[in-house]
Amino acid sequence: MQEGDISGEKKLIDKLRNEQKLSFDEYLFLIQNREKCQEYLFKNSSEVRDKVYGKDIYIRGLIEFSNYCRNDCLYCGIRRSNNLAERYRLNQEDILECADQGYNLGFRTFVLQSGEDRILYRRTS
Ligand code: SF4
Repeated sequence: MQEGDISGEKKLIDKLRNEQKLSFDEYLFLIQNREKCQEYLFKNSSEVRDKVYGKDIYIRGLIEFSNYCRNDCLYCGIRRSNNLAERYRLNQEDILECADQGYNLGFRTFVLQSGEDRILYRRTS
């Protein structure tokens, strides 16, 4: 629902569309005023999406390579305090095998995801 003058919000949305970035304060302003300008924001985002992707649908394979997490977000099934979660951690060979299986199923792009796994984090830092 648009209410009142949203010229400031429109200016920032136009800037975001043209330059693909805003400053922290500009993002904050847009987020704080998102309800006033959502119609204009959604219209612009739909136009950009249609221009880039058309009406095609792209599906990505998701490989969750570890469900260990040091954090404890209440909404999350793999939070550290969930003692009912069966924990696993894939190695490189497992991950590549998952990608092969996904490729054979028709996926062409993959997202690698995990919890914030202390063991893996230690290995990469
Ligand atoms: S996986 Fe993400 S959402 Fe879940 S507990 Fe860890 S940090 Fe939180």
